[in-house]
Amino acid sequence: MKNTFNILTLGCKVNQYESEAIEELFINRGFEKQEDKADIYVINTCTVTNMSDRKSRQTISKARKENPNAIIAVMGCYSQVKPDEVKKIEGVDIILGSRNKEDVVSLCQDFLNDKKQISDIISLSETKTIEELQIENQSEMTRAYIKIQDGCNMYCSYCMIPYARGDISSRNMDSIVEEAKKLTDNGFKEIVLTGIHVSSYGKEKALKEKSDLIDVIENVAKVDGVKRIRLSSMEPRHISRDFLERMKKTGKACDHFHLSLQSGSNHILKLMNRKYDPSLYKEKVELIREYFPNAGITTDIIVGFPQETEEDHKDTLEFIKEIGFSKIHVFKYSKRTGTVAATMSGQINGNIKKERSHDILKLEEKIRKDFLQKQVGNTLSVLFETKSDMDGFMSGYSSNYLRVNVKDKVETNQIKDVLITEVKDNELIGKII
Ligand code: SF4
Repeated sequence: MKNTFNILTLGCKVNQYESEAIEELFINRGFEKQEDKADIYVINTCTVTNMSDRKSRQTISKARKENPNAIIAVMGCYSQVKPDEVKKIEGVDIILGSRNKEDVVSLCQDFLNDKKQISDIISLSETKTIEELQIENQSEMTRAYIKIQDGCNMYCSYCMIPYARGDISSRNMDSIVEEAKKLTDNGFKEIVLTGIHVSSYGKEKALKEKSDLIDVIENVAKVDGVKRIRLSSMEPRHISRDFLERMKKTGKACDHFHLSLQSGSNHILKLMNRKYDPSLYKEKVELIREYFPNAGITTDIIVGFPQETEEDHKDTLEFIKEIGFSKIHVFKYSKRTGTVAATMSGQINGNIKKERSHDILKLEEKIRKDFLQKQVGNTLSVLFETKSDMDGFMSGYSSNYLRVNVKDKVETNQIKDVLITEVKDNELIGKII
């Protein structure tokens, strides 16, 4: 009788990617995936906010409570930074960190034999190489993620990730290309290159073979089945003329750039220990638009960072108008124990955070509408994914990352050119040409 397992994942796209890779490892070792009443529950935790820690603990306790006889294995960023807290949670059998997740399968087999609690947290300072996890198939139908990099050395003052994921490390180029081949053999047309700090690909000093993110893009673009390459995020400083020229030349790069801004105030960017100022950010966006005039520029903004004045907030609102983003994710600053920002004076109260977040969301709605309206009359390349919420329509994402709906007959996972005719409910409508 096969042992059954299930993986519960919290957090980012990289965590989701790793859970899918671990799922394949279990299945390749003869285990069977089962949602309920499984023999093994693996919880892939997150620690990006205090709330993520709490949710991780709740998920672990719930899995134990609902499955008194199952093996409970905990891994990921929360157990990497707080292993003792995880050990104290009743009924945890196996504890791993964020950089040795592939060991969970053999540790479950060990536990099946010995029934003794296992804790295997490897120190991040000793971890110089990346786990070579690979996926041949993915739960998403049209877009496949490939994790190319791990870790971050930026140490933004509000962020726990460098303490949870450790130093930057890059995957071997051949294994990335091999994975892209396998995924496109399985029908995927769009590849999303992801990581903890994608722009740091190839930047670790120890790396013998000097390569850069643009080398990954060019090599993945050489894989026949790959029709589109999307980047999960970019660091503004790494945008250069050479990078954009080579990206454009591949003919497969999506004109969508997720450039986390966080604040439009130089005063706050300095306190955040971000490595750019608003004028450099703007310069890079203008460079992008030189090569990709209709690029979708999306971003993240934190409101209510410690010591943020009304003036700083106004600077951010003005800067947003200058850039004209296609989408903004707004986060209220949340104090994260263990970060530099958590110890800063001038913490902002919740009501002010709410007001400022409201201001930015209101502005975001207007500039997003402006960007959508600008698409009317344009022809966009769309990868169709699913039936639309609009009755009788099919929908998919354009290369500049906008949702497009058509009435035409089209299959899932097909890429078509669409002439945009109108904007409706913050989405685009068009017809295939
Ligand atoms: S770049 Fe900054 S915010 Fe992003 S993961 Fe690294 S430290 Fe965190």
